[in-house]
Amino acid sequence: MTNEQPRVRPPRVIYCTRCCYPLLAATPITLDADGVCSGCRTHDEQKTIDWKRRERMFRELCDDYRSKSGKSYDCLIPVSGGKDSFYQVHLLKNVYKMNPLLVTYNENNETDVGRRNIQRMKDVFGCDYINFTPSVDVLKKMNRIGLRRMGDPDMHAHMGINSVPIQAAVRYGVPLVIWGEHGFMNLGGMHSYKDLVEYTARYRKEHLLRGFDWPDFVGEEGLEEKNLLWAKYPDDSEIERVGVRGIFISNYFGWNQDDHTGLMVREYGFEVNALPFDRTYKRDSNLNNVHDNGIHDYMKYVKFGYGRCTDHVCRDIRSGAMTRAQGIDLVRQYDHVVPGDLPRWLAYVGMTRVEFDAIADTFRDPRVWVKNEYGHWIKDNIWNHN
Ligand SMILES: [Zn+2]
Repeated sequence: MTNEQPRVRPPRVIYCTRCCYPLLAATPITLDADGVCSGCRTHDEQKTIDWKRRERMFRELCDDYRSKSGKSYDCLIPVSGGKDSFYQVHLLKNVYKMNPLLVTYNENNETDVGRRNIQRMKDVFGCDYINFTPSVDVLKKMNRIGLRRMGDPDMHAHMGINSVPIQAAVRYGVPLVIWGEHGFMNLGGMHSYKDLVEYTARYRKEHLLRGFDWPDFVGEEGLEEKNLLWAKYPDDSEIERVGVRGIFISNYFGWNQDDHTGLMVREYGFEVNALPFDRTYKRDSNLNNVHDNGIHDYMKYVKFGYGRCTDHVCRDIRSGAMTRAQGIDLVRQYDHVVPGDLPRWLAYVGMTRVEFDAIADTFRDPRVWVKNEYGHWIKDNIWNHN
């Protein structure tokens, strides 16, 4: 009988011919005439950059911003406590001898390994450190609202990570903010290394926050402005008074996360996850929050049809650590997995699995997903190409 029904075919997805990114990704991507994505091309560009000259530029930048009077911090580093944070603090504190203020937006639901790494970061670097957590009651509401309205339970984290450190920069009068990589550039190739792009309020709002901001949460589940003070980006007048400027360290030293991990493990005892995660083969990324490699990343798969495993294999294919075929095998193994932390997250926010699935399905991109004749969501997978 099933043979007589018309077979539903999913929309065709175009994939980069070198890595595994789909053209329709969370980070804007373009393909060139050879079918190679802008992320791969930007990665290749690193070979053409005069990194010695960039290092000199960075050294001069540090000299310009180092406090002459010793009455303020030399720079501010937003840190999660992950390997890239360690790398940034290592460079600024120990290589360039700056006096940085470290600031964490704490998403709550910390993992044990994340907690130990933050303690280690405090112990080994000896920097002044602010760890900020909003009201957990507010965070639970924001998880629910974020899922319902934006398909992203962690929208609060995008706002917090991109507001709390800038507020601290204004409050403590620290003009230089040191970010790690520009994710849209390093993954998707949104900019060239030649652009030397810096952090802007517009990048924060339009890309990192996808056009949303704290007012989108006001009035939902009784949230008021006073619950969201930490999520506000400072006014232009405050930014200009202090002269706040955000740079990406990847523009000065290139970006290879595997190198960072190896160095941080050897030099500072940075700890990777002891066990594999449900949704990726890497054990050194996004270690701080119980749900980051789980439900948060699963929603990306629901929306776009790919997950963090794709991000990870694309990095590894570009760096030469694996072949595209090996990457595709891993994507096939991990991208679709419903993570084991989902019941914990549902209990945290007070939601049922049925409610969750119903909301999640409203965020499936119709250019990727279609329901087949049996009522199952299907898509055009990378392993069916070529
Ligand atoms: Zn690519």
